[in-house]
Amino acid sequence: MAKQVAVPGYEIHERVAVDPERTALLIIDMQHDFVDRNGALPVPGAKDTVPVIRRLIDFARASGIPVFYSQDTHRQGDPEWEIWGKHCERGTHGWEIVEELAPQPGDVVVEKARYDAFYGTALDHELRLRGIDTLVICGTVASICVHYTAASAGLRWYRTIHPVNALSALDPFDMEAALRQSSFLFRTVLATADGIVAEAAAAREKASRVHAVSR
Ligand code: ZN
Repeated sequence: MAKQVAVPGYEIHERVAVDPERTALLIIDMQHDFVDRNGALPVPGAKDTVPVIRRLIDFARASGIPVFYSQDTHRQGDPEWEIWGKHCERGTHGWEIVEELAPQPGDVVVEKARYDAFYGTALDHELRLRGIDTLVICGTVASICVHYTAASAGLRWYRTIHPVNALSALDPFDMEAALRQSSFLFRTVLATADGIVAEAAAAREKASRVHAVSR
């Protein structure tokens, strides 16, 4: 029987500044099997987030923010198929990232076997090599791979930001539960995609140092 509970309040910030030198955009599992209505595991609303995520990619590229992708990847006999059925089999169309959001050379694509994109992958290594401590995390599924990746990032003391209109979930309860948990447990900052702005701290500090010297 369904139960009704009140969702504790959380804040959606109007404006969140990120330093492009320390920030990466991380796009979770925007693959045909999740995004397409006839995919193996369609997520309602995932298709609607494609243009929003496209804008985030354009913003990242224009700001010099590296773009990272996770790609859910399974092979025959993967135990996850016992939970969800067959999906994201390596090499199939359903496994591919949707064309509108396709990675370009220089982006980092992390193939992952579980919900957490850090688990058994080089994600943490690739981020640290670039001096990144802030992650803008979007994609699908908000309460599963997005949430467990954001939680795993939080455990590693990355600062995490969710553009909430660039997330999709299997149902509204799952979305609310994920946003509540991330913001409450890991201080994930919730914003909208258009509220995230680039502000180079290094450039600002340099400008103030030059100003101080010239006085
Ligand atoms: Zn999977």
